[in-house]
Parts: sequence; structure tokens; C-alpha cells
Amino acid sequence: MSDPLDERDRAGDPLAVVAREAGAYLESLRERLVHDGTKDALLDDLDGPLPVTGDGAVAAVQELVRIGTGAATHSSGPRFFHFVVGGSTPAAIAGDWTASLLDQVAGMWPASPLATRAETVVLRWLKELFGLPESFGGVLTPSATLAHVAGLACARYWWADKYGVDVTSRGLAGLPVMPVFSSGLVHVSTRKALQILGCGRDTLRTFARDDAGRVDLDAMDAALARVGGRAVIVANLGEVNTGDSDPIADLADLAERHGAWLHVDGAFGLFAALSPRTAHLARGVERADSVTADGHKWLNVPYESGFSFVRDQAWLSRAFGAWGAAYLPDADGERVNYNMLGPESSRRARALPIWATLRAYGRDGYREMVERHLDVAAHLGELVEAAPDLELLAPVQLCIACFRFRPDGVPEERLDALNARLGEALLADGRVYAGTSTYRGMTVFRPAPVNWRTTKADVERLVDVVRELGAAVAD
Ligand SMILES: *Cc1c(COP(=O)(O)O)cnc(C)c1O
Repeated sequence: MSDPLDERDRAGDPLAVVAREAGAYLESLRERLVHDGTKDALLDDLDGPLPVTGDGAVAAVQELVRIGTGAATHSSGPRFFHFVVGGSTPAAIAGDWTASLLDQVAGMWPASPLATRAETVVLRWLKELFGLPESFGGVLTPSATLAHVAGLACARYWWADKYGVDVTSRGLAGLPVMPVFSSGLVHVSTRKALQILGCGRDTLRTFARDDAGRVDLDAMDAALARVGGRAVIVANLGEVNTGDSDPIADLADLAERHGAWLHVDGAFGLFAALSPRTAHLARGVERADSVTADGHKWLNVPYESGFSFVRDQAWLSRAFGAWGAAYLPDADGERVNYNMLGPESSRRARALPIWATLRAYGRDGYREMVERHLDVAAHLGELVEAAPDLELLAPVQLCIACFRFRPDGVPEERLDALNARLGEALLADGRVYAGTSTYRGMTVFRPAPVNWRTTKADVERLVDVVRELGAAVAD
């Protein structure tokens, strides 16, 4: 086989190969190991020289599916607890396939009114879901990191404008360092976005009043006064080790009083807005200038999916529009060109999986899922507290339980090494997938059940396996 044109009449066949395997694979996620080290040898089957004569699509895809369903980390199953990672709902996976099937030029209205309209619609639905004003603008991005880039690029434009500089056109040369203030809950991706934007990752200043990183409002207030309010405040809604959040409304008050820009990182924490049990944590987010969230975490759509919301859509076009390319049309009402509103130019129709899953499950379905995860995380916290050899390190907030293995008789100075060994043992074992993180200087586990498949039974299994392997590595 050499030319895809030869397969023109059988173009659907390779998709049928995937579809045939999909049901059994998805069903197997319930029970299979999250990672099966004995299958790592399959990775060699991926390798080899560039094929000269191809195998044809069906044979190639059969091979890909064989290797993939064996050697993948089955992170879309219910017991992947290593990072804050969602799965993919059945509707979202199929929506994602549809995005590939249709392969839209999703950045420009004239090239795809479908993708453009779908993006506008899902942004509106998401704003409603999160309690953000409908008047906010927004854009879909590949990730929360790129949503930070979008929101903070707007902040940077706003800030430079106070110095009379159009940063989109002139860049940062000659300007002072842009002050960016946050609490100790700030996520590394915020620094990465600042780095990408040329603001420097280490220019971000944190104001913390304890070693958990909780914000020191008075110190931030004083610093804002010193810079005359020309600063960006980054508020964190959902920290990755404990689920802790900054008091968003208090930071919104500070921003308002000083005339500063308020950016909120709600990568997964913004989903607190979906339940009356946690909505208070998100209170104040509607007063932000820019807001980041992820679709591939708690919304349970496939990678890559992020959202950037901004108070005024015009900021996004100031930061990313005006390419000066004559062939690119200007935005006009419904005829939005999303490639002018975010960091990407060419992009896929990532609105389609979001549309499919919101249409499938609706606001109630997502509220139920979020509340189930709140219950699962609380249950996990109770199991940890009840276990004599486990130590809960922070109150369970939102969807995360932060703990470590602490059997009797092991001195404090040996606990980090012990937990690091346990983390490696858990990853090698594969029944549950939970690696370690560092929290307040300690080596810890911080499982975050946000996968639609995850139930209480899965965290019970997690605790059992942690204690079993913990006892083994402690010997
Ligand atoms: C995951 C996460 C990010 C980064 O998200 P990506 O989609 O991986 O870029 C940012 N902030 C928080 C709080 C997160 O949990």
C-alpha cells in the first residue's frame, strides 16, 4: 500500500476497527490494572524504521489498537489517582471522534460556521454552569496553562496600556517588571504562562501567612498600594495538593479597591460552583477579569481541553488579534474568528466533545457527578483517618484527600523516604495509580477522584492497596 487515494472507497474501515474494540476496552477499565508493566514490551512494537511500503490503514490501525490497549496507562479508568485527572464520558469520547471525523478549520468563521457556532454555544453553556456573567468573553484552549496564557496576555495588555505601550505591537522592552501577586496556593502553570509571555516565571510574588500557603491579605494589600494598583492578582480556586482555595471574594475586593487585574485559576476548582455544597468557594469569581478552567479534568472530556473566560471579549482581541494579515477577516458579531482570540492559530473543533457531553448529561448530570466526587473524597478522608497507619494532612476540601503512610515506630525523618518508596511501589503494582507530591515539605499522596467512573469502592481499594504495599515496603 502506498497512496491513501487507493483507500478512498474504504475510508470508514479503520474507524470501524477502533469502534469494534472500543466497547470491550471501555468495559475492561472497571477491573483492569491502571498500568500493567508486563505489557511494556509492546512499546518496542511501536518502534522500527520508517515504513517504505505501508501496511494499509486497517492493518496499521489494528496494530495501533493492539499496542495501545495493552501498553497504555489506563488513566481514563476509575483508579488513576496520580494527578487531578478526569476520564472521558461516553458522549465526550464520541464527540471527540466527531471532531476528527469532520476535521474542521475551527479558527475562522468563513472556514467553519459549525465549529465557530459550537464554540460560542459551549462557552455560553459553560459560563452558565460556572455562574459567570453571560457578558464575559472567552475562548477554548488546549489546556489550563494556555488558558492562563490567554488571560494573562489580556492582563499584560491592560497593564502596559497604563504606561502608554501597546504590548501586542511593541513588546515589553522598556517597561518595568509587571507585578504579579498570589498566595502560596499558586500552581506552577501560572509561572509557566508568565514565562511564555516574557514576564518571567520568578517575578510572581507570593503572600502567605503559613506554610500551607494561605494568603496574607494585609501584606498583599500593602504591596498593591506600593505599586499604585498596577498589578495582577492571581487567585487560586482549588490547589492541587489539598483542594484548598483562596478567599476569592476578598481578593476581588482588593482588586477593586486598588484597580488591579484579578485572574482566577479554577482549573478544576471552578466546578465547586456546580454544587450548592461548595458554591461558596467560587463566590467572587464572577468579579474576576480573567478566569481559567480545564475541560480535561472535572468536565471529563478528552485531552486537550481548556477554557479562558475574560470580562470583556475585546481584551482577547487586543492581546491576540490584529495580525496584520490581509487574508484573515475581522470578527463580526456571530461571525467570530476564534484564532484571533487566543494563543492558537490553526486549531481543532474542541467545542464538539464539550457540546456532546453537556447535551448528554446537562447541568443536573454534572452536579450529580461533582457531588458524588465530593462524597467519594470525604469517604476517602474518613478511611484515612480511621486507619492507624495513615495520617490525613489537611481537611478534605472539594475533591482531594492529602495523606501519608505513617506506621508506628518510624521516626519523622524517615517518613519521606518511606512514602517515596511506597509511591514507586504503587506505580509498579498498578492496581491503583498514586504517586507522591510534596506538601509543606512532606512527601505525600493526594488522590483526587474526579473521574466520572470513580466510586467509593475505588477509594476503598486505594486505601487497602496503600496499606498492603506500605507494610511491605516498611519492612
Ligand atoms: C492542572 C492544573 C493546571 C494546569 O492545567 P493544564 O491543563 O495541565 O495546563 C493549572 N492550575 C491548576 C490548579 C491545575 O490543577
